[in-house]
Amino acid sequence: FGTLCGFLDIHADEQPEKTALAHNDRSLTYAELNDRVNRFAAALQGDGLKPRDTVSICGLNGIDYVIGFLGTLRAGMTVAPLAPSSTPEALIGMLKDSAAKVLLVDQKSLDGMAPLLSEVDVRILKMEEAGSDSVTSFLAPEGTRPTPVEIDPDQPFNIIYSSGTTGTPKGIVQSHKMRWSHTRPTDPPGFGPDAVSLLSTPLYSNTTLVAFIPTLSGGGTVVLMEKFNTEKYLQLAEKWRVTHTMLVPVQYQRLMDFDGFDDFDLSSFEMKFCTSAPFNAALKRDILKRWPGGLVEYYGMTEGGGSCGLEAHLYPDKLHTVGKPLPGHDIRIIDEDGKELPAGETGEIVGASPAIMNGYHNKPDKTKETEWYSPEGQRFIRTGDVGRYDEDGFITLMDRKKDMIISGGFNIYPSDIEHLLRAHEAVADVAVVGVSSRQWGETPVAFVVRKPGAKATADTIKSWANDQLGKTQRLADLVLSDELPRSAIGKVLKRDLRDQYGEAQA
Ligand code: ATP
Ligand code: MG
Repeated sequence: FGTLCGFLDIHADEQPEKTALAHNDRSLTYAELNDRVNRFAAALQGDGLKPRDTVSICGLNGIDYVIGFLGTLRAGMTVAPLAPSSTPEALIGMLKDSAAKVLLVDQKSLDGMAPLLSEVDVRILKMEEAGSDSVTSFLAPEGTRPTPVEIDPDQPFNIIYSSGTTGTPKGIVQSHKMRWSHTRPTDPPGFGPDAVSLLSTPLYSNTTLVAFIPTLSGGGTVVLMEKFNTEKYLQLAEKWRVTHTMLVPVQYQRLMDFDGFDDFDLSSFEMKFCTSAPFNAALKRDILKRWPGGLVEYYGMTEGGGSCGLEAHLYPDKLHTVGKPLPGHDIRIIDEDGKELPAGETGEIVGASPAIMNGYHNKPDKTKETEWYSPEGQRFIRTGDVGRYDEDGFITLMDRKKDMIISGGFNIYPSDIEHLLRAHEAVADVAVVGVSSRQWGETPVAFVVRKPGAKATADTIKSWANDQLGKTQRLADLVLSDELPRSAIGKVLKRDLRDQYGEAQA
């Protein structure tokens, strides 16, 4: 496949006037995008960068982001996208870790990093800005093509930092081969030349790339949002006659809760995707009922340790699961001693796939910790997630191991308690975490966001739940909150809730 953006040449040739990319009032045809990508690549080469050097990008989704991303790849270099929501210290840490030579950045992120920038030797280019240090002024003259480079399928495509949900983000080196196996135009299905994908999750995350790359490689149109907003999302979906989308569960929830949802014409949708955080069955059911087109949930990790898919529209009685391993993906369940467990038994999920990472960047010890070898000697990645197979080969996901509660020697799954609480009429959102207890070691505490107008008190909801929970599962406390703390990609930050609760008690 040569460079992964070889497809741009083909589309620029075959359908030059087709819109490849749109964002706010800017858009680029395939001919224009290909030209910008070539000129960016040529400019990197002209600046003295060599194949396999790293270019970092930090900012919100936009056209310059994509030019920089694809231009870097075209020059045979590695992209290291950074989450702008990270602290300036973390951003500098990631710049150092990735040894980036160039940083594409938006003004806001740059302002945050400014006091620390002297610690790194990096050329700054501003995105979506005019001026002599902007992406536009950096581009080589119109029509310039970069010196062609040979790409080794095993060389790094990008270093993606994991979401940092459970700790410091880890740099995950994804090779061209790995990226490609995530993103063939036919898998996930349906990203053909007529696809119009509306993407509002950040381009620095794997979640977005699994829809972004196949849309462009298939010759379709990507409509980007820099920030999710329910009404704007629905307006864009209607305006562009969107066929595909990738959203995280909290965004689906907001859309389904939006008053005017049913007034929008969403009949153009063919397939919707969801990944990255627990997606509850009731929400899936609601989407299937009110939003045309199919719905596929993916479970997986940036490390590429095997993924599952659930075609929710085909399996209405499996909505409580994350589906079956994707073709070519091997997922197994192991116990504390690393022994494989049969269907029905709960343990840590380990996975292997053609898209498995080589390792964490600069962290050989961390890499070793996450490896598991099957009896046949195949390398798997330990996901840190707990789950089990059912008799039909579908996987039910419980919790992250780090979020499990061990109380008086019993394992408590927060997801069981969350599932129960979600059934209470006043509960809109919920997270259960373990907090330390002198008597039990750890004990469950629930954080609940009530539905608008709901009157039920913390005490009533807690008693209602405790009446139905087993003795060891009973909630020690239930705290009403306005909102749950979430990462930029919409994952509940349970460690923040634990800290918050600990501080309030101290
Ligand atoms: P870090 O490893 O830095 O703590 P992270 O694990 O959140 O961050 P990602 O690779 O973005 O980083 O996310 C993978 C994790 O997301 C999985 O291990 C799993 O816990 C969760 N996840 C992914 N898909 C789903 C899903 N469909 N349902 C529930 N959880 C999911
Ligand atoms: Mg992880």
